[in-house]
Amino acid sequence: MKNIVLFGAPGVGKGTHANILAEKYDLLHLSTGDMLRAEIEAATPLGQRVKAAMERGDLVGDDVVIGLVDKALSSTEQGVILDGFPRTVQQAQALDFLFKRHNRRMNCVISIDAPREELVRRIHERAIISGRADDANDDTIRHRLEEYDAKTKPVTDYYKVSGLLVCIDGSGEINQTSMRLCKVVDTVVRKNNF
Ligand code: AMP
Repeated sequence: MKNIVLFGAPGVGKGTHANILAEKYDLLHLSTGDMLRAEIEAATPLGQRVKAAMERGDLVGDDVVIGLVDKALSSTEQGVILDGFPRTVQQAQALDFLFKRHNRRMNCVISIDAPREELVRRIHERAIISGRADDANDDTIRHRLEEYDAKTKPVTDYYKVSGLLVCIDGSGEINQTSMRLCKVVDTVVRKNNF
């Protein structure tokens, strides 16, 4: 069973590439952003609690997203590709704990990298079709990128230490990045003898 984390800044294309990889390697795509938006859409108490923070571009509380991922992992035996989680070192530590509890092993953490101007350009482009309030406002976009630098980027050091981190260039076209990602996953699959 393969378990992969797709890591990167807002706008880099984690959702798009997680979908492609999920299809190709028969993985369940778990996006905490999608889970949170579904809670807001359904106007659940949790959705109401996180709505304002998401609209501001703040990260929501660790306990909230850890709970959502725990619930998702409890309800599947399939390998997973995590998109948008972990986003803090506390979440990364919690994920290690959750994987142990659910008898899973993390195979790799792939960080997709792209220059800041390209991220902003892609978020603006996505805003046209996503209808996401946090994609449409320049202050919110700036704040999401600040949150990434301050709280999420340090997660790469956490995974560097465990030797799980692979960084790839995601500045080009979707199919170029996709080919790089598949190469990494294929190498990991061969090495781990899945
Ligand atoms: P995304 O769809 O991954 O871009 O996430 C959209 C928003 O959801 C983020 O800006 C955060 O407000 C919230 N969010 C998603 N995943 C997490 C997470 N792992 N930790 C904290 N907040 C999250």
